[in-house]
Amino acid sequence: MAIPMENLLEGLNPQQREAVTWDQGSALILAGAGSGKTRVLTTRMAWLMTTGKNRPEELLAVTFTNKAAREMMTRISSMGNWPLRSLWVGTFHGLCHRFLRLHALDAGLTPQFQIIDGQEQLAALKRVMKALNFDEERVNPRQLQHFVNGHKEQGIRAENAVVSHSAQRPLQEAYLAYEAQCQREGTVDFAELLLRCVELWQHHPVLREHYQARFKTLLVDEFQDTNPLQYRWLRLLCGPASTVFAVGDDDQSIYSFRGAEIENMRHFERDYGVTRVLRLEQNYRSQGTILEAANALIQNNAGRFGKTLWTEGAQGEPIRVYEGETDGDEARFIAHTVIQLRDQGIRLSDMVLLYRSNAQSRALEQALFSLNLPYRVHGGLRFFERQEIRHALAYLRLAVSTEDDAAFLRVVNFPPRGIGARSLENLQVEAQTLRSSLFQATRVSSLAGKAGQGVQRFLQGIDQLAERIHQGQDLPRVIEAVLEVSGLLEHYRQDKEGADRIANLEELVAAAMAFTREEGSGDVLSFLAHATLEAGEHEAAPGSEAIQMMTVHGAKGLEFEVVFVAGLEDGLFPHENALQETRGLEEERRLAYVALTRARSQLYLTHAQSRVLHGQMRYGVRSRFLEEIPESLCHILNPRGKRPELSFGSRALNPMRSSVTPTESVKTGKFHIGQRVRHDKFGEGVVLAREGQGNEGRVQVNFRDVGMKWLALAFARLTSL
Ligand code: ATP
Ligand code: MG
Repeated sequence: MAIPMENLLEGLNPQQREAVTWDQGSALILAGAGSGKTRVLTTRMAWLMTTGKNRPEELLAVTFTNKAAREMMTRISSMGNWPLRSLWVGTFHGLCHRFLRLHALDAGLTPQFQIIDGQEQLAALKRVMKALNFDEERVNPRQLQHFVNGHKEQGIRAENAVVSHSAQRPLQEAYLAYEAQCQREGTVDFAELLLRCVELWQHHPVLREHYQARFKTLLVDEFQDTNPLQYRWLRLLCGPASTVFAVGDDDQSIYSFRGAEIENMRHFERDYGVTRVLRLEQNYRSQGTILEAANALIQNNAGRFGKTLWTEGAQGEPIRVYEGETDGDEARFIAHTVIQLRDQGIRLSDMVLLYRSNAQSRALEQALFSLNLPYRVHGGLRFFERQEIRHALAYLRLAVSTEDDAAFLRVVNFPPRGIGARSLENLQVEAQTLRSSLFQATRVSSLAGKAGQGVQRFLQGIDQLAERIHQGQDLPRVIEAVLEVSGLLEHYRQDKEGADRIANLEELVAAAMAFTREEGSGDVLSFLAHATLEAGEHEAAPGSEAIQMMTVHGAKGLEFEVVFVAGLEDGLFPHENALQETRGLEEERRLAYVALTRARSQLYLTHAQSRVLHGQMRYGVRSRFLEEIPESLCHILNPRGKRPELSFGSRALNPMRSSVTPTESVKTGKFHIGQRVRHDKFGEGVVLAREGQGNEGRVQVNFRDVGMKWLALAFARLTSL
């Protein structure tokens, strides 16, 4: 039962109501954080269905992360009892995947095509380079990956890539070979999903017109972050009788490094005949102080579309700023504050720890862990990215398609079956001669001895799994069979450190059950796609109480009662790569604006005088973004110049102590001033200064090649000469 229309619009302000019920063609809503853009977008979907203007299958809504897409579904389902399965709501990647599954052959793909993620793409590119005899000195695989994805994101195929100088020629050649390899193996990388789908619309007008007629309303959240190819995709899908409803905030554009273009907003007005851009100016999320701070910060950017946000809500509490002596202090401060807030009745899941780079999470995790606080890291090492899970899924992929050479190479000798590099090379030669997949080549090859037996068992295992799938066995049972037949469970049982991995593998069966329940079907291909696309955006047991941890990028569109932003130091946030250039710095500032505006009632901004990052000690200066927030809005917990109040027994809870074994040198304290030392990466140098004791000890070294560095003894592998 849908909510009656009046109730649907109740509580919306006049501007929001106008946007929800807009009936003059396409619309662009440009509004600041927390002004209800996503709410307006979902309410509009409900409104279109309630009033009978659109049937559910006539709507298509696109957003940026799976988490946001799920949230959108939840919001819609709370407004009425619609058949959610017929709604097309998802990310660009997710929706493209859905189209390509339906029209694989028209798109020139095998129906069993598999999606590969960034890591698998890199491995695939390395194989291409090997086949072409390109060594890594000449072509850097990551640079090649960047080249391939950059071109795909601009809609440029290898044959059309323009090479401006001769050094790029091998890149183009490898791109060509990579395309051929993917085609042969039936694999599709992330950038390819979108490009294929665009080409599908371009080359098949009948299909395009079918979908153009079907989708009457296209809705786009976070429009400011669409890149030109996504924009083209949307343009192709929008028919003469369809309208687009786009919402965005130029101040939150944070993906220009990936080619997103704010310019799309201006194009939109022209391409869709928008006569008036709608605005929402009332903020419903954050209390006054937080909003004022965010407004003050973003005012430092030039060339904004310009908007002012106001709130009827209370002024609220001041923003708390804390300066830790070390990143350990900073993390302990956060962990203890979390406990205090929890004791005051705030749920852990209503708190979030935000940081600029993933590498920062370690110290924070350690502090939470040592206080027994459950936490969930989004976007870090995710469930579906863990090694054992990827192995298990590779078996499943092979059972679905024996053409999948990437999957073959991942598991043919894992668990070990005595198949060495030499045997593999022979197989590769054989496959090339036979023009077949590695799996097929293995069937006809005659590997002798232990390797031969191992391979036979491997082949039989895959056949057996394929047979189970063919018979239509339940997905969870198929996964159980994968774990046994592959020998993975057995392998990890033998491993002293394997308990966690076994737990994860067992969790995969649970994931398959949940998937079958939620999707209403246990289709193996959909499950594999789900695993790759979602890459575990829900980490720990879903639904359990835990404090959330994520990068600022991952927090887009979300909101929390309490937000901690850690590591506000120049070089970290703003990121050091962005310090030199105004455009880069402005993007960092928008990122900081996103961070601040996630908070409803409490905001903590923290930084540290020194921190260990990538095994190196860094001394930080307070972030310039902190300076841009009026001091009157802040409560400084430890006035500068004074030592931070370490009322939390920091020495007893040293997070470094439990995670790192001190190197021999720390124990013996053998570094003295003037000592000559060698470091793995920086080479030779001389110790100039030394501070701290034990694990917190650090030395300043003047390296011959790279100059002065402070190094944490607990991390740096220094040897004396
Ligand atoms: P962002 O730019 O961060 O994505 P947004 O503009 O999409 O933000 P929403 O997430 O839609 O904002 O809304 C922010 C919060 O304000 C949500 O909790 C939402 O439910 C609430 N909200 C929006 N409009 C109203 C309203 N008219 N009355 C009460 N609460 C509202
Ligand atoms: Mg939003």
